[in-house]
Amino acid sequence: MKFTTVLIFLSALMTIISCSDKTTVKSQKVENDQLKALIIDGQNNHGVFPMTTVMMKDYLEETGLFEVDIERTKYIYQGPHHNEIEGVDSIQQLVDMYPIESEKEFEHTSKPQSDSDYHPNFSKYDVVICNFGWQTADWPKQTQDDFVKYMKSGGGLVIIHAANNAFGDWDEYNKMIGLGGWGGRDENSGPYVYYDDNDELQRDMSEGNAGSHGPQHEFVLTTRSPDHPIMKDLPEKWLHTKDELYERLRGPAENMTVLATAFSDKEGNQAPWDKTRKGSGNHEPMLMTIEYGEGRVFHTALGHMDYSMESVGFIITFQRGAEWAATGKVTIDVPDDFPTVEQSSARAWRK
Ligand code: ZN
Repeated sequence: MKFTTVLIFLSALMTIISCSDKTTVKSQKVENDQLKALIIDGQNNHGVFPMTTVMMKDYLEETGLFEVDIERTKYIYQGPHHNEIEGVDSIQQLVDMYPIESEKEFEHTSKPQSDSDYHPNFSKYDVVICNFGWQTADWPKQTQDDFVKYMKSGGGLVIIHAANNAFGDWDEYNKMIGLGGWGGRDENSGPYVYYDDNDELQRDMSEGNAGSHGPQHEFVLTTRSPDHPIMKDLPEKWLHTKDELYERLRGPAENMTVLATAFSDKEGNQAPWDKTRKGSGNHEPMLMTIEYGEGRVFHTALGHMDYSMESVGFIITFQRGAEWAATGKVTIDVPDDFPTVEQSSARAWRK
């Protein structure tokens, strides 16, 4: 009898010990299980990029799901696109205002310049966020090859706005992003892809350059793939804050799913630099996913400027898109301050 009691006591003790063990192991695992994200940048006609990179780092970290590194090219090119920021006389000051952890000696250049030492270790990461832009200088061949290998074997990639302007001559990159603008892209790059007024997806092979946009304005996003994990529980239509509405993107568009579109009004989205370049009159892809080998790509054409990225619509689709690109799943909920079709919403980011 006494022996049995001892046994019961011992077994209870063992259970307690093993439970507490499991708890400890589990909490350690949760910490170690954070997804690893890498933001890559350094050359962008959107000179605001040192700020928007840090904004996106914050957005990923605030989900509690990601730890985020940044890899910048040694040669920094900041183009003219930036917002007037109080206390900032030169756009180059943004690099010091939003410092990143790096041992490199950075150098500002007046034109994008190739960095022969640029070689992030992509394989360490669950997802790579591309914040390069128009006219980015080519990466070294080995870096390109390793990036293709990383993506084909199941990597994750998020394309932000002008990242779809970069690397027009790099075929594999064009396959990853599905659609792109500028960068020498034309009918040889693939079709224009859009929804027409009958809600039919068109792959239009007519001749012409890729990429255009009108003056920045607020516009409505329309969900086209409501069952996709990134779009689940989002309203069918919602108003985005002031941004460029990219149109006439073209590319291989293979294994691509259009998640959301925005309507490009012929008068309202006329190119400011060319009076003959009217808006397309089509429903243009704004959010897309692309399957590339075993890899997953989330492509957002949104995000011209810091204030465009303060849009709750941008933030939530970016966070969800990054999680989906990293894991194939989405666990991030839609918050109460998500915009409606009548009212855009923004979260002021620390400057
Ligand atoms: Zn832009």
